[in-house]
Amino acid sequence: MINRKSREEIKLMRHAGHIVALVHQEMKKVVEPGISTKELDNIAMKIIKENHAVPTFLGYSGFPACICTSINEQVVHGIPSEDVKVKDGDIISIDVGATFHGLVGDSAWSYAVGNVSDDIKRLMKATEEALYAGIEQMRVGNVLDDISGAVEDVAVKYGYGIVRQYGGHGVGHVMHEEPFLYNYRVGDKTPIKQGYAIAIEPMLNMGVDEVTVAADEWTVSTIDKKPSAHFEHTVVATEEGPQIMTKLME
Ligand code: MG
Ligand code: MG
Repeated sequence: MINRKSREEIKLMRHAGHIVALVHQEMKKVVEPGISTKELDNIAMKIIKENHAVPTFLGYSGFPACICTSINEQVVHGIPSEDVKVKDGDIISIDVGATFHGLVGDSAWSYAVGNVSDDIKRLMKATEEALYAGIEQMRVGNVLDDISGAVEDVAVKYGYGIVRQYGGHGVGHVMHEEPFLYNYRVGDKTPIKQGYAIAIEPMLNMGVDEVTVAADEWTVSTIDKKPSAHFEHTVVATEEGPQIMTKLME
């Protein structure tokens, strides 16, 4: 069952999302060549705790950190480590979750480290564009396939692979609620109703669609080792249109 969030729940999700956005605001500043992914995790943890929230990912199915850090060919679910430092030309996806008074905000962003190639810039631009194209379809009266199709169309336009095994999801009282949201058309005619909260998260690959999970049982990478980008917002369908929860509150 897909649950509809009440006005009060949406207020709390917006607060959780604001804290997630504060983390991203800081990540944007501190991601530079030489910083370790563990340092990024420590900074995220500090911000989440200072804002009286709980890091949603820490301990989720045993995940050992409060952010996921996925570099270059890594798609999602990379584990922060003191031994992993980003370098000039890398692309890093940072996925952040915060729980505030029982409600979750979930958002990922891909960051360029130093100077990246034009190819990487194009991949990032396309994936961000796919995210916003999906968000635009998160409207009462549309169906889930409208979001999936909008994401797919952008990926096809740029000629990028679409990760098939992972996708968006309902979010709220826990990080993963129903429904599952594909990043390509599957014909899902589930109507979008007022109060639905979904994390929309395209993962686009410069090469082929296929991915594989590492021996650590977390890190997902492209099989052809080409770079991947990942952008995600938590969005609520309202009578006034799609509202992004994971941005800074005014
Ligand atoms: Mg996420
Ligand atoms: Mg998510």
